[in-house]
Amino acid sequence: MERQNRTYKAAVIGGGAAGMTAAISAARAVGGENVVLIEKNEKLGRKLLATGNGRCNISNSSADPSEYSHDFHKLRFVKSVFSAVPPDCLTEFFDSLGIVLKEEKGGLLYPLGEQAAAVNDMLKLELARLGVVVLLGTKITKISQNGEGWELFSHTHSILSDKVIVACGGAAAPSLGGTDSGVQLLSELGHAVTPMSPSLVQLCTDFPNIKSLGGVRVKCKAALLCGGAFVAEEIGEVQFTDRTLSGIAVFQLSRFVREEGEGKPYRISLNLMPERSDFAVFQFLTKRVRTIPHMPLEDFLSPLFKKSVGVCLLRYSKIEKLDRPCSALSEEEIKRLAASISDWSFNITGKADFKNAQVMSGGASIENFSGSTLESKLCRGIFAAGETLDIDGPCGGYNLHWAWTSGLLAGKSAV
Ligand SMILES: Cc1cc2nc3c(=O)[nH]c(=O)nc-3n(C[C@H](O)[C@H](O)[C@H](O)COP(=O)(O)OP(=O)(O)OC[C@H]3O[C@@H](n4cnc5c(N)ncnc54)[C@H](O)[C@@H]3O)c2cc1C
Repeated sequence: MERQNRTYKAAVIGGGAAGMTAAISAARAVGGENVVLIEKNEKLGRKLLATGNGRCNISNSSADPSEYSHDFHKLRFVKSVFSAVPPDCLTEFFDSLGIVLKEEKGGLLYPLGEQAAAVNDMLKLELARLGVVVLLGTKITKISQNGEGWELFSHTHSILSDKVIVACGGAAAPSLGGTDSGVQLLSELGHAVTPMSPSLVQLCTDFPNIKSLGGVRVKCKAALLCGGAFVAEEIGEVQFTDRTLSGIAVFQLSRFVREEGEGKPYRISLNLMPERSDFAVFQFLTKRVRTIPHMPLEDFLSPLFKKSVGVCLLRYSKIEKLDRPCSALSEEEIKRLAASISDWSFNITGKADFKNAQVMSGGASIENFSGSTLESKLCRGIFAAGETLDIDGPCGGYNLHWAWTSGLLAGKSAV
């Protein structure tokens, strides 16, 4: 084991969005040679490179604390972090890296060139310019107190540092390096951990004909219900896979699905014509039957939705013999079809696993950290940033916004 014969002022564990930002923030204050950034992968920012399908939805112009949680304590915590590092500081940070942003619908912010790789490169160039010591391929497995400071251990290194920032991310997307190891490191130091589960993830369903819809996308209003009670709704795209509902609208709703399920079943209701009432859909279909009475039933809905969706809706409405002309539909059948278009219901049997998730919900409990510095209340000199902490947001740039903001604060506070 290589024991470094020097003590750093700050050691950052995790070279993702939060860790690189924390290392830059600390190095700008105390000089890069006094800061070490330790990453278990052979390169920095692997997850960052995959964000926004490689376009990097870097932040959101309306990243309000209430987007992260309505829980009083979490809301207060995020508010405190955001007031210590207001959006202007984040803009200044991107400016200082040479990253120019552009805004899209919904406040979504992207780098002008829409390349996550360029964002990663700018961070790496700044780390190099500041002279931050970067150790790649080094997984920290233990943190112990050493006098006034801390000692970090990997299989190959022992590293001494006055302050430590744990920015190891979460368990989502293990193929990109996702792990709960940061949470474990903090847990071993006595920090409380809240249950960890995949979020922004597909929802599994036992819908009988789901396979016939594999790969199909629909634009709709999707509502999540638990035991029949309304939980949340989203307007957007839903995509079907062999056994799940996917797409942005479902990802957003997945944040509200608890693994325990509170004992009550979840279901998703898709409204494919949200701009019309049930009755208006019935009238629309009745008129359509009159206009094209000869149209075989299996094609009756085709120009409105993909053919496979139309056929599935007819079967879901218990309408058989699809080679009949649509004029053969009874008024009762048209009513059932209208009701299905407005409320196409899928039982939810659970969430897909971390492999498919974009973020982890849960993690190191915020109760043990100060919202104004991100320092641990239990271990002086230990800080946390990014997804390792029990804070996660919806799709739309909110999770990277949290990573940058908390990284800036932890880096600044640590030194
Ligand atoms: C496919 C995908 C697309 C996404 N798109 C977006 C998007 O467009 N916008 C958005 O806001 N969010 C997006 N997210 C979420 C966002 O990427 C994360 O919330 C964010 O990267 C979290 O940053 P982090 O620094 O906390 O963690 P990470 O980026 O995961 O970085 C943590 C780093 O720590 C390293 N590490 C872990 N344990 C150790 C250890 N013990 N020792 C050393 N190193 C360790 C890991 O290898 C990793 O590199 C996306 C996520 C995924 C999976």
